[in-house]
Amino acid sequence: MKIAIIGTGYVGLVTGTCFAEVGHDVICVDNDKSKVEMLQGGGIPIYEPGLEEMVKKNVEAGRLRFTDSTNEGVEASDVVFIAVPTPPQPDGSVDLSFIEKVAREIAGAMTSYKIIVDKSTVPVKTGDKVAETIKRYCQAKVEFDVVSNPEFLREGFAVDDLMNPDRVVVGVMSQRPVVAMKEIYEPFKAPIIVTDINSAELIKHAANSFLALKISYINAISAICEASGANVTEVANGIGMDERIGRRFLNASLGFGGSCFPKDLSAFIAISDELGYDFALLKEVQRINADQMSRFVRKITDTLWVLKEKKIGVLGLAFKQNTDDTRMSPAVELCNRLAAEGAELRVHDPKAMEKARPLLPEGITYVDDMNDVAEGCDALVIATEWPIFTELDLEKARKSMSAPIMFDGRNLFDPQEMEKLGWTYKSIGR
Ligand code: NAD
Repeated sequence: MKIAIIGTGYVGLVTGTCFAEVGHDVICVDNDKSKVEMLQGGGIPIYEPGLEEMVKKNVEAGRLRFTDSTNEGVEASDVVFIAVPTPPQPDGSVDLSFIEKVAREIAGAMTSYKIIVDKSTVPVKTGDKVAETIKRYCQAKVEFDVVSNPEFLREGFAVDDLMNPDRVVVGVMSQRPVVAMKEIYEPFKAPIIVTDINSAELIKHAANSFLALKISYINAISAICEASGANVTEVANGIGMDERIGRRFLNASLGFGGSCFPKDLSAFIAISDELGYDFALLKEVQRINADQMSRFVRKITDTLWVLKEKKIGVLGLAFKQNTDDTRMSPAVELCNRLAAEGAELRVHDPKAMEKARPLLPEGITYVDDMNDVAEGCDALVIATEWPIFTELDLEKARKSMSAPIMFDGRNLFDPQEMEKLGWTYKSIGR
C-alpha cells in the first residue's frame, strides 16, 4: 500500500517505519523542517530501542522517505494517517487545532479518492468533525473516507508493540475503507476489530484511563500498606495472579506521567462532562496520582528535615524506562519540587538528560555516569525504573555519600538487602 503519515513524532515515525518494514511504501511528513532534515540525513530525533536500525534499513530499501510537504505526502499515497499532537488545554479538554489544520491541508491536496486515518488520540466524535472539515475544504470535491485507528504502542517498547500488536482497532463510517485497512495490517498477524468510528475513538480513551486507574489503585493500596506494615509487592503479586485482574500495571511507584495518561484522562473526563456524564471515578484517579507524588516528597522532607543546601542525587528523568521522553515526567516534577525547596540536585538519566534540561531549573549538575551521582549527597532518589539502575555500584555510592539514604520511587531494590548493605532505604508501600 502507498501510505503517508502526517506527523513524524514518536507515533508517526515508529508507525511509518513498521509499515515500511512489512513492505508498504511510506512517506513520512512533518512540518518541523529541522526534524525532516535530520531524518533525511540519517539521524533519528527520538530514542526508541530498535528504531534506528529499522529506519536505516527501510530508507536504504527505498520503502521509507521523509518530506516537509503535506501536498507531496498526500499525492504520493492512497491512505493518509494523521499522527499529530493532541495536547491538553488548561481546562483539560483536548486542543484539536493540529488535527483540524492537518485535515484542511489534506483536503487542499486531495485530487483523487483517499482514506484518511486518524491515529492521534482524540475525543469521541472527532471523526465527524474531520470528515466535515475535509468535505468543506476539498476544492476537487473527490470522494474520501475517514477512519479511526487508535494507537496503543508503549514508548520504550514501541517497535515491538507495533510489530506485534495485541489487536488493531479500525473504526469506520462505511465499509469502503475496510479492505484497504485490512491489507495494511494483514502482515502484522493481529486480530483486527472493525467498529463504528465513535466506538474506536472511545476505545483508546477508555483503555488508557483504565490503565491509569489500575496504577492509581495499587498506589492507593501502597498508602494503606505503609500505614499498616503490609508489603505492596506481595499484595500486587497476590491479587495479580487472579487472571481476572492480571499482574501488569500493578507496580506501586511515585505515580504515572508521560505524554499520554495524564492528558488522556483529563480529555476523557472533559468529553464525558460535555456528553453529560460526571466521570468522578477518573477524577479520583487523578487525585490519587497527584497525592502519590506529594506523599513521596513528604517522605523525603520528613527524613531530611530541611532540604535547603542538601545535596540530592536523582537517578532517572525520563517518564519511564527505555525512552528519552520527559513530557509530564514524574521524575522531572520531583526534581522541580526538590529544587524549589532549595535542594542541590545531581541528576543522571541514560537517555533523557538533553530533553529534561529545558524543563529543569538552572544550577542542576548533570552527571554522565550513574555511579558518580551519589558523590557527596545527603540522599539518593530513584525516579525512573531504568533496569540499568539495579546495577548501580551500591557500595561505591554508599561510601561517597554524606549519609547513605535512598528514596526508591520505583521499588527497584529489596528493602532487607538494602538494610543489610547499610542503607537507610525508603521505598513505596513496603
Ligand atoms: P509528537 O509530538 O512526538 O509528534 C507529533 C509530530 O507532529 C511532531 O513531530 C510535529 O512536528 C508534527 N506536526 C504537528 N503539526 C503538524 C502538521 N500540521 N503537519 C505535519 N506535522 C505536524 O507526538 P506523539 O507522541 O507522536 O503523539 C501523536 C499522537 O499520538 C497524539 O495524539 C498522542 O496522544 C497519540 N499517541 C501517543 C503515544 C505515545 O506513546 N507517544 C501512544 C499512542 C498514541
